Amino acid sequence: MSCSKGRVSPSTTTKLRLFADSGGFCQNPSCLQPLFKDLEDDTIHIAEMAHIISAADDGPRADFGKIDDEKAAYSNLILLCPSCHTEIDKAEKHFPETLLQSWKSEHKERIQKTFGIIKCPDRSSARRIAQRFLRENKVVFDEYGPMGDDRFNPESSLPKLWSMKVLEAIIPNNRKLISLCDVNEYLLTEEELIVLEYFRQHVADLEARHVSRLDVCGKMFPAEMSDIFLDKTS
Ligand SMILES: [Zn+2]
Ligand SMILES: [Zn+2]
Repeated sequence: MSCSKGRVSPSTTTKLRLFADSGGFCQNPSCLQPLFKDLEDDTIHIAEMAHIISAADDGPRADFGKIDDEKAAYSNLILLCPSCHTEIDKAEKHFPETLLQSWKSEHKERIQKTFGIIKCPDRSSARRIAQRFLRENKVVFDEYGPMGDDRFNPESSLPKLWSMKVLEAIIPNNRKLISLCDVNEYLLTEEELIVLEYFRQHVADLEARHVSRLDVCGKMFPAEMSDIFLDKTS
């Protein structure tokens, strides 16, 4: 699924983020082909990570000013079906960088809208949406989280259940919450923007542990995140 035109390979988190953005569909707005296919006895994906600026210096939309890390970064990749990937690389003049970036951002917006992630007119409406995600995560954490009495009980099935709940509820809610904050960044205070960055790190660590199964001891959930978009009246 990587691009044949270069060897700059993105991190696992970048790959996960691209798949999440795509919602499972090619990001070319005039294609939107499903990227997962159910075969008789298997499910395959045909997604290809295409470079917006080529990984090689003589490839499509090449830019000598970019270093390898930038070329492998999330911002330089778009998830496409194989034929769209071939098309944008072969007919590069018809598919400039700005066009590909707009495909990507519009696709993301479309997916976000289906989850109720919208640009809100004020803080209180953003707060109401944020609370839906925060509330569910709090209940799941309180009921199944690693702080409960059963934490050290080897007989307990809670750790397994907790892992399942993290994948099913906590991670999707975290993603939605981050999207909501990013879309409504203009409503956040300077302090809240900092809290958001801590939350982003916490989310990345949690995903590394539960999705990529890396043994990382990650950042804790920043408690102030529970009050995001909340206006405290004294
Ligand atoms: Zn390519
Ligand atoms: Zn396509």
